[in-house]
Amino acid sequence: MIPVVALVGRPNVGKSTLFNRLTRTRDALVADFPGLTRDRKYGRAFLSGHEFIVVDTGGIDGSEEGIETKMAEQSLAAIAEADVVLFMTDARAGLTAADEAIAQYLRSREKMTFLVANKIDGIDGDSAVAEFWALGLGEIHQIAAAQGRGVSSLIENALAPF
Ligand code: GDP
Ligand code: MG
Repeated sequence: MIPVVALVGRPNVGKSTLFNRLTRTRDALVADFPGLTRDRKYGRAFLSGHEFIVVDTGGIDGSEEGIETKMAEQSLAAIAEADVVLFMTDARAGLTAADEAIAQYLRSREKMTFLVANKIDGIDGDSAVAEFWALGLGEIHQIAAAQGRGVSSLIENALAPF
C-alpha cells in the first residue's frame, strides 16, 4: 500500500509549492492568487526512501461561517482519504482564525496530522512559530517549501510508520 499524504491549509500558505517540490513537476498551479487550485491534484512522490501519493488541495476559505462550510468540500474529502495530513500554516502571516478552525477540525479526527509552518526563510523560525503551539497539534515542523529547507526531515517524520 502506498501512503496518501494530503496537503491541507488555508489559501496562500504554500501547499502547491510543496506539492511541486515533492512531485518535481509543475502539475499544481503555483500562484499568488488564493484559491486558484480548485480541485484536488494527485502526484507521485519519492523522498527520503519513501514512496507516497501527495494530494494538493485548493485550500479553505476562511471567510465563510461554520467549520463545515469553512473547509472546502474537497479539503474534507482529501483529509478523509489520506493516511497522513500535513496541515500547513504560514510562519510569516502568523496564526489566523482559519488556522484555528482547521486545527479544531483536525483534532476531532482520528487522523495522523503534522503541523507545518512554512516560509521560515529569512525569519527567526522559533519566534515566528511560537504562537502555533496554541493549535494543540504538538510539534511544529518548520519548512521553507520554496527552497526545500526542512522538507526531507518533515517527510521522514510523517512517513516513519509506513
Ligand atoms: P497555496 O495557495 O497554499 O497553494 O500557496 P502557493 O504554493 O500558491 O504559494 C503562495 C505564495 O507563497 C506564492 O507566492 C509562493 O511563492 C509563496 N511561498 C511558498 N512557499 C514559500 C516559502 O517557503 N517561502 C516564501 N518566502 N514564500 C513561499
Ligand atoms: Mg495552491
